[in-house]
Amino acid sequence: MRKNIVAGNWKMNNDTKETKSLLKDIRKGIKKATLKNTKVIVAPSFVNLNTAVKVLGDSKIKVAAQNMNAAKNGAYTGEISADMLKNIGVKTVILGHSERRAYFGETDAVLKEKVDSALEQKMKIIFCFGEELNDRKENKHFELVESQIKKALFHLPEEAWNKIVLAYEPVWAIGTGETASPEQAQEMHAFIRKTVAEMYSVAVANNVSILYGGSVKPANAKEIFSNPDVDGGLIGGAALKAKDFLAIIAAV
Ligand code: PEP
Repeated sequence: MRKNIVAGNWKMNNDTKETKSLLKDIRKGIKKATLKNTKVIVAPSFVNLNTAVKVLGDSKIKVAAQNMNAAKNGAYTGEISADMLKNIGVKTVILGHSERRAYFGETDAVLKEKVDSALEQKMKIIFCFGEELNDRKENKHFELVESQIKKALFHLPEEAWNKIVLAYEPVWAIGTGETASPEQAQEMHAFIRKTVAEMYSVAVANNVSILYGGSVKPANAKEIFSNPDVDGGLIGGAALKAKDFLAIIAAV
């Protein structure tokens, strides 16, 4: 059965001291019982991943990278491979975040390669996708989301889906304070699950966690997460404050 997941995407924030302090506060504030039902993941910057793995130690909180290169190794200045991540104990990677798509030219084809490479290295993937405001205004959001998932993921064999978490993040709601309404989130999540069921099976679709991301805050988390097809959230800004992140985790 699919899990509830709350993942914090720290983006390019927090130096090492701040990373330690935030993680200690999260670790201290989280209830053991919560970790039984909810998987909690944090994604600090590359340079602080090692620190995060050490600070979290044997706690059940997992560490994810925000990106990786598709190549195994080689002349790719400034890049990080799946192997390097695994080598420091990081076994999950966020792929397809809208900021990677918008600012770093990550196309569906590039993301397909990254997905394949991560799976080859036995990494877990939080795969992000979502429409821009214009797509929604033109009523093309379902079509767009379907195409993003199909192009990067629908070539995978059924068993690969055990390693995939989907994160629907409407671009117009990321870091804007604008949130999809609970109804909009549920409508899209149900559509995503139906699309996966049609391509694979109802069992695969029911097993995949689908997270919502886009200005989730303590004040709106419960309402969004209470929808049947919303299995938690990918949190940006609010993941940088222990109190807010903990309140969001408690809401799932
Ligand atoms: C994100 O960047 O994945 C995100 C959801 O950001 P925010 O929560 O700040 O909108």
